Amino acid sequence: MKLVLNGHDERYVVEQSLMNLFPGELPVYEPVQPGDESWAIITLRESEADCRVTVELRHGGKTAAQSCRAVLSGTDFEKEGQRRHAIARGFFLAARAVTGVTPPWGMLTGVRPDKPVTWALAGGKTPEEAAAMLEEDYFVTPERAALALETGSTALTASRKLGPKDIAVYVGIPFCPTRCAYCSFVSQSVERSFALVPPYVDALIEEIKAGGKMVREEMLRCRAFYMGGGTPTTLTAEQMDRVLTAFEESFDLSPCEEITVEAGRPDTITAEKLAVLRAHGVTRVSVNPQTMEDHVLRAIGRCHTAGDIEAAMELVEKYEFPHVNMDLIAGLPEDSPEGFRRSLDRCLAFGTDNVTVHTLALKKGSRILLEGLSIPGPEAVAEMLDYAAPTLRSAGYGPYYLYRQKYMSGSFENIGWCRPGAECWYNVYIMSELCSILSFGAGGSTKMVEPGTNHIERVFNLKYPKEYTERPEKCLANQAAFAAFYHQLP
Ligand code: SF4
Repeated sequence: MKLVLNGHDERYVVEQSLMNLFPGELPVYEPVQPGDESWAIITLRESEADCRVTVELRHGGKTAAQSCRAVLSGTDFEKEGQRRHAIARGFFLAARAVTGVTPPWGMLTGVRPDKPVTWALAGGKTPEEAAAMLEEDYFVTPERAALALETGSTALTASRKLGPKDIAVYVGIPFCPTRCAYCSFVSQSVERSFALVPPYVDALIEEIKAGGKMVREEMLRCRAFYMGGGTPTTLTAEQMDRVLTAFEESFDLSPCEEITVEAGRPDTITAEKLAVLRAHGVTRVSVNPQTMEDHVLRAIGRCHTAGDIEAAMELVEKYEFPHVNMDLIAGLPEDSPEGFRRSLDRCLAFGTDNVTVHTLALKKGSRILLEGLSIPGPEAVAEMLDYAAPTLRSAGYGPYYLYRQKYMSGSFENIGWCRPGAECWYNVYIMSELCSILSFGAGGSTKMVEPGTNHIERVFNLKYPKEYTERPEKCLANQAAFAAFYHQLP
């Protein structure tokens, strides 16, 4: 779509709105010519007190013009937010006028659509006012606004559990047995990179030890620990034992409420590894079948069957972890609403207290895009999610966190469901950005959150296991930045 910006250069806001409302359209910054069929002219006029946005938009043979006004008040930062909101709103209204479509999350384009609710509740708004704000200010559908109210309220509860020195710790294991068709993660297939694993584990242990020392010196408290990936259970039992031992010896675990380890792929789960996890006090494992349909498992490149998932779940059950999660994805290649229904029903039969329902997100570099695999359309995905929510609710689960990704089928969301009291608080902390996350391992993203504010800083570990292993100084620099962040806080 051709985009003409007059009186401003808010490309990011406009492009996010374009992606949300016209999936597949790419922005082109060129003047509109007679006969052009896909364009938008977004004009901003501003005074001391307010700004006015006019959007003329043509698409699909229809043209619409919309305008809106926003009062500008507060700090420069706040005014910038008000201006951007007005631009996004004007674009949304014009787009809706030509397409007749309101996406489930309205004009919200970010990954955390329940964040405005948490802030509104924390600021004293009633639940009704917070939900109404989402519907009126952002055009979120009533169903999604009610959902955001539930997860946003859980985030508020989580924020009240946290003190100013509380953090969470993440450890990344970027190896997987094979690469899934929908994945763009920098995970290394173990078959091809087996030799990288031992030096990676050695480097990781050193990083954890240094990080633990820094955390003790800064008198920070680790409230939740999460080992993800990749697939952490691609490590051998002995490697897993060494990593968890390093964590236990380096951190004071007394304030740590939960230790979660993703055991994502059933073909990596063994009795020996589960025994190691249990012995280290792991409170939650996450087994992630994504589907229980054999032909879909084949289509996404998994080298196991639904029968293997059932066998792995039987094994997991024997170790009596306090909590177990299973992940499913709605919208996988070759899947159908009936197939998804069967998958969810089979997962529920295991009786785990957490089920996470993702919506497929199309990622650059994934096999789905590279090979053009056929995937269910947005209506079919909507049917899957429309089955999931009431089914999970009637089985006793409630939504406790949600997030969105770019290019999600139907512009829906990912939702963590759990039985009462079975929340994985790490998920809430990270998705609602409630506390700092200190990340260890290749590709780790360390987030520093100033308590009670929106101020967040980030540092990143080196992306690939080989460079991560060879350049430990980068991790140490990140840990120094983490310590410095806490030093400068009031
Ligand atoms: S298990 Fe996860 S990280 Fe590994 S290849 Fe599949 S989607 Fe990617």
